[in-house]
This record gives sequence, structure tokens and C-alpha cells, in this order.
Amino acid sequence: MLVYLSRLQAPFVGKIRESMSRFAGSFDLRNIFFAVLSGLFLGVITGHVAWCLVLALFVYIWWMSVQVRKLRRWLSEGLSGPPPTTSGSAEVVFQQIYKLRRSGVEDRERWRALARHIRASFAVLDDAVVMIDPAGNIEWNNIAARKLLGLKYPQDVSQPLLHLIRDPDFRNFYQSENYDNYYSMTSPQNTETQLQIKLTFFGKRSRILFARDITQTYLLEQTRKDFVANASHELRTPLTVINGYLQTFIDNDEGNNPRLRRAYDQMLEQSSRMEALVRDLMSLSVLESVGELSGDIEPIDVGALVELIKRDVQLAVDTPKQIVIECSDIRLLGQKKDIHSAFSNLVLNAAKYTEADGRIVIKWYADGDNAFFEVEDNGIGIEAHHLPRLTERFYRVDKSRSISTGGTGLGLAIVKHVLLRYGGHLEIESTAGQGSRFICVFPISQAVINDNRVA
Ligand code: ADP
Repeated sequence: MLVYLSRLQAPFVGKIRESMSRFAGSFDLRNIFFAVLSGLFLGVITGHVAWCLVLALFVYIWWMSVQVRKLRRWLSEGLSGPPPTTSGSAEVVFQQIYKLRRSGVEDRERWRALARHIRASFAVLDDAVVMIDPAGNIEWNNIAARKLLGLKYPQDVSQPLLHLIRDPDFRNFYQSENYDNYYSMTSPQNTETQLQIKLTFFGKRSRILFARDITQTYLLEQTRKDFVANASHELRTPLTVINGYLQTFIDNDEGNNPRLRRAYDQMLEQSSRMEALVRDLMSLSVLESVGELSGDIEPIDVGALVELIKRDVQLAVDTPKQIVIECSDIRLLGQKKDIHSAFSNLVLNAAKYTEADGRIVIKWYADGDNAFFEVEDNGIGIEAHHLPRLTERFYRVDKSRSISTGGTGLGLAIVKHVLLRYGGHLEIESTAGQGSRFICVFPISQAVINDNRVA
């Protein structure tokens, strides 16, 4: 029964609320009505109806101004505490403001708590985190940023980051605004610490910087590079001696002994392969250690270089192939040895993996942004899933074919490293059974015509 009654009451209570709010909305009209009625009543009693009406309206205006003053005082106190007591629509307005303020405060508190939480989790990271405002000044940094980058918090807040990290290469990286890749540098705090830096834009051109200590990985990588460089260097002399003796045996009487001849030939073939391997490993080591392009740079006549490569390749690969050359007279700023090594690897590959009646087209040209060296063949082609791994050391699509054609599996790795030195990259397009196109893409700043840069 009680439930039934309360159910019956529910819409009733709702209606009361509704009419109350309507009453509050019309309260001012009632006040005006009562003021006018009181004025009229007083006027009839006193015989001064007009004056009494004016007096009643004046009282009403005075009451309103008292409410406005209350509101002003409450606003000037920063809306602290509950709203002043009043009645009519003024009360509704006060309550609405109070409700809005409370929900605003709650929202702000929630966001502050979230920001505190994020900061607290960033603060304890082992990686340095630095937040940088759109003007390039530090907004916040964590504890690790002090250890890895020497940034103090809060002393360095509002300082330009570039005033505190003064490495010129870092400055170039920061100002380039191209943050696709990581940047590596020595820690300004400790020359034995290697850092990997990642910068990212967020919000309205604010930036966030992460710096990670990669000293261990760096040392391991350094050890690997040193080992490969030393081992290949040490192997070179014994191999030259072995090759020399084998050649002498073959040229002398021992070479005419049919029992030994086959063994000599095989030994010479294998030691020559090892020599090629050692040579390519050494080239890679040198490329890795020299880093970015520097030293003797000359404008290379690509057309003439390609003619030379064509001749060498035709001698090395005895099957006849049609090699077409379409080179512009743009010159490439660089080191001839590197460029010769990269371009000849590509042309030699095209010749090795193309049938005797195949066709190879070599192009050298530029557009507004880049210069391109392109080698296209209609040879055996490569299946799509191999393409991403082709420039890895010793990655081969068909190992036996590569070895039988004298390949070391290092050719494309060398091409990739040469291009990295020039700020370029290698693009590969290929279809199995139809042919391949290898494109060396150089920044246009490496291209010159009549000693003038193309762009
Ligand atoms: P390799 O010395 O074995 O040729 P590379 O690094 O030069 O080593 O090439 C890696 C692999 O890529 C090769 O083993 C070959 O399978 C494939 N490859 C390279 N160039 C071509 C090409 N023009 N056509 C087909 N396959 C190619």
C-alpha cells in the first residue's frame, strides 16, 4: 500500500517541483503585482493614488538593487561559500551560479589530479622527459633529465632549451623540426654516457623530448663493429698470401697435374670468395665508422662513371646484356669511391639476376627535391615479402644462386650505408619474374649543374 502511495506520489511531487520553479519564475511578476496593489490600496486610503504607486515601485526597485548588491558582493568574494539568501528569480540565478561553480571546481580538481598523476609517473621514469613550450622554453622536466641532460627543475623552467643543451648537432636536429628519426648524442653531463633522443610535437606546437641512456647498447655495437673491422683486417693478409701461392701453383707444373688441378681451382675460387667477403666487410666497417659525408667532396660526372661501371660489369659477367644509359649532365657532390661502390653493386646485381637476353636501363636525373640514380632490369625479380629485408647483411633471396654468381650478400647493405652518408635512401620496386628497379634517392643539395647547385 505504501509502495502504491509512494508511486502515486512520485508524479505528484514532480508536479509540485515544476510548479514551484514556475512560481519562482513568475515570482517577480507577483512582487510587482503586490507592489502595485499595495500602492493602490495606500493611495485609496490616503487619496494620493499616483504618489503611492510611485512609492511602491520605488520600494520594489530598491529591493532589486539590494539583490544585485548581494550578488556583486558574492562575486567579488570569488563565489566562496553558499549563495546569499534571497527569493524569486534572483534566488534561481544564485543557485544556478552556485551549481555551475561547484561543477567547474570539481572538473578542475579532476584535471589537476590527472595532471599530477601523469607528472608523478613521468617523474620516476629512468628516461629523461622534458616538456617544451611553443617558444622553445622548458616548461617541466623530470628527475632523470637532471642526471642525463643536466637540466634543473624548477630553476630551468622558462629557459630556452637550446641555451642549456649547447651541442651544435642537437641544435640542427631540434631546429630541423623533422623528428621521424632518433638522434644520438653524448650526454652533456658525462662524456661516457650515450643518449638516444626522441622529439615529438604535441598540442599547439609544444614539444616533448625523451632521452634514453643507451650506453650499454652503444658499447656492445661498438665492440661488434671493432671486432668485424679487426677480424676482416687480420684476415686480409693471410688470404692474399694463400691466393698468391695457389695462383703460382696453378701457373706452374703442379697445375698440370689432373689430380690436383680441380682441387687448386676450387681452393682458388673459395679463397677469392673469402677475399671478396673480407673486402665488403671492411668497406661496411669503414662506412659505419666515418658517419656523415665529410672530407674530399667533388662534383662527380655520373655519366662517365656509369660508362666505366658498364665496361667492368660486362667483363665480370660474361653473358651479353643490353645496358642502356640515360644520364643527365647533373653532377653529384660526393666521394667517387663510395659512389662507384654503391652504383656498381646495383648494376652488377642487375646483370647477375637478369638473363643473357635481358635489358638493363640506368638513369640519372633530378626533380625539384631529389636527384635519382635508377637501375632497372627485366630479370628474375624478387617476391614482395623479401623486399623489406634485402638491405640486411647476408640476406639473400636465393642463397645458392647468389653464391654461384659470386655474391657476398653484402652489396645492398653497402649501398644503403653509402646513401645514409649522403642523407639519401634506397627504394626498391620489384615483381617476381618481371624485373626490378633500384632507386638511389639523394637530397637535391647533392646535385650540381656547371658548378651551381640544382636547388
Ligand atoms: P648478393 O651479393 O647476394 O647479390 P646483395 O646484397 O647485393 O647480395 O643482394 C641481396 C639479394 O637481393 C641477392 O642475394 C638477390 O637475391 C637479391 N637481388 C639484388 N639485386 C637483385 C636484382 N636486380 N634482381 C633480383 N634480385 C636481386
